[in-house]
Amino acid sequence: MTVSVIGSCGFRSAGQKDQMPLPAFFRLSVDYALPPRCPICGVTVDADNRFCLTCWQQLDFLAKPWCAACGIPLAFDHPEDSRCAKCLIDPPVHDGVRAVVRYDDRSSLIAMRLKYGTRLGLAKLIAQHLQKFVADCDGDAIIVPVPLHRSRLWRRGFNQSVLIGKELARATGMQMDYKVIFRSKLTPPLRGMSGVQRRKIVDSAFALRADAHERLAGKPVLLIDDVYTSGSTSSACARLLKKAGAEQVLVLCWARVISDVEYG
Ligand SMILES: [Zn+2]
Ligand SMILES: [Zn+2]
Repeated sequence: MTVSVIGSCGFRSAGQKDQMPLPAFFRLSVDYALPPRCPICGVTVDADNRFCLTCWQQLDFLAKPWCAACGIPLAFDHPEDSRCAKCLIDPPVHDGVRAVVRYDDRSSLIAMRLKYGTRLGLAKLIAQHLQKFVADCDGDAIIVPVPLHRSRLWRRGFNQSVLIGKELARATGMQMDYKVIFRSKLTPPLRGMSGVQRRKIVDSAFALRADAHERLAGKPVLLIDDVYTSGSTSSACARLLKKAGAEQVLVLCWARVISDVEYG
């Protein structure tokens, strides 16, 4: 089994002055030393990786019916394999998106606190919620986290998607392969760009290892990302994973952006 965390000791970037400047291993220790607290509002809760009742009620957990291709919630009850109009016109390259919650002020706090290393233990919480989607994959899948460029990995010290994937692998016994795909180009932050701009930038940002076909041919893949925004990153990765012979690529993420129009 290939379960490992790349770069366990991290450094803070100059743009993250409000983040805790501790090495990753020490931050993990702090996570476990403190009494359990709600990861959103900070009130004491009765166990690790639990939300307080108020935050739990305010998180927008996503549930069926949703589009079988992109995971957008559908307004009315539909058959299991229904697709939204957008996916019927332009089918995505992956085979579905499963997000735990809608991206909003509360759910984004979880993503940010994991991404910038103030609560690395949140990877376990996210993995616990992702476990319910594993059954949607056909057979024993390989967990593949969306990779970071090596310069970002060096600066941050860890890849949050690898941390989530590692916890999911630990909980399910599935294999994780965090090397089969890598980020060959450093891309600028995509926030604020249109879908077309994002796609143009990320489409050539990833590459496959030489032995990718050997690793993935005929196997289903669970592609792990923390946040699903426009889908451009996941699509670029899914395109390559399928090129390597992956039979199915299901995207699992903590939160996904859904506009008010898409939410009906
Ligand atoms: Zn709370
Ligand atoms: Zn759709």
